[in-house]
Amino acid sequence: MNGHPTPAPALLARRARPRAEQALKADRLLLAGAVRVQRRTPSSVFATVQGDSGRYECGWSDRTGWWCTCPSRDAGCSHLLAVRRVVPAGRGRGAPA
Ligand SMILES: [Zn+2]
Repeated sequence: MNGHPTPAPALLARRARPRAEQALKADRLLLAGAVRVQRRTPSSVFATVQGDSGRYECGWSDRTGWWCTCPSRDAGCSHLLAVRRVVPAGRGRGAPA
């Protein structure tokens, strides 16, 4: 227990705590098949995610960036993290790949 290796500086720099929990939730959503990309164009993405407490719509547009209808109103919510695993996008810079 004494000689515990210190985490790499790069990992520490990421302030991972809340983010990591959202990432785990995103993993669960993906594994459960809860993420459906409904439509994808060069300038937008529209997806639905069946979350624990409801079904949310989320997506990306070149004008607004990432958005989600869940109460957290946060681009870092688990729904968006899940969608972004499926549709990697340049955050506001150009269209998703
Ligand atoms: Zn959300």
